Amino acid sequence: MDLLTTSYRVGDVTITKVEEQLLHNIPLSFLYPKATPDDVKAVAPQLDAGDLEESGDAVPLSIHTWVVRTPRHVILVDTGSGNDKERPQNPMFHRLSMPYLARLQATGIDPAAVDYVFNTHLHVDHSGWNTRLENGRWVPTFPNARYVFPSAERDYYASPASHNEANIPSKGVYEDSVLPIIEAGLADFIAPDGGRYLDIFEFIPTTGHSIGHMSIAVTSGDEVAIFAGDILHHPFQVHRPDLNTVFCEFHDDAARSRRRMLDRFADTGALYLSTHFPGSSAGHVSRRNGGYGWTYA
Ligand SMILES: [Zn+2]
Repeated sequence: MDLLTTSYRVGDVTITKVEEQLLHNIPLSFLYPKATPDDVKAVAPQLDAGDLEESGDAVPLSIHTWVVRTPRHVILVDTGSGNDKERPQNPMFHRLSMPYLARLQATGIDPAAVDYVFNTHLHVDHSGWNTRLENGRWVPTFPNARYVFPSAERDYYASPASHNEANIPSKGVYEDSVLPIIEAGLADFIAPDGGRYLDIFEFIPTTGHSIGHMSIAVTSGDEVAIFAGDILHHPFQVHRPDLNTVFCEFHDDAARSRRRMLDRFADTGALYLSTHFPGSSAGHVSRRNGGYGWTYA
């Protein structure tokens, strides 16, 4: 297990990926239901070797946390899938037993030392380690942290509207990974129009993948990085931003937010910190051949 992942400097902020899972052999036809075999053939030559499985029509996807160390705080952005969660509809996330906390410790992060936990949205693979199972109860994994959620995500996933069989990404997640945090008095909420947090962070509304999805920019000196959340899932989508994933809930809005952010990345040169790209999961977006290109950092 290679724990020594690359760290990125953004001014006086250091950002390090801590992997929870690396999923393999996800068929592109599943991830992007509207992608045809010809679409895959057209995009494949533009991808890095590590972006495609050997079969050529399936991909690896990472699930991880970004650890952000500022001069004053330790912050986690998104918390993976979690251990012991009941997800019978979704074997990828059902009753997992992963050495995630050991990996955090190996990068020097004690759970008690985490000051803030940011969730870009409240899907199963982004909020799981918010809590852990202790004596049959879900308790905050990071007991001294303020947890920061988009308020529109909380409102929706707390409501019956989100609790239906079709909405597998969210089933049970609110109850075991969000509500215990609110009940412990550790939650802060970001209003739907986003805004500044802790001086150096900006929550940017990027709705569509989920109802209140946010991207999060961090600025230090004249450098900017943006945790883009699930506006894209894989470099494939940089080349085909018209394609939504099977996990995107509000399709037109998701495609609009994706293009707006790709333009922002290409125009500003901000470091893109992805939630699911394989490899380093970080890189830069450029304009290429009338569309966009991707380069790993
Ligand atoms: Zn996700």
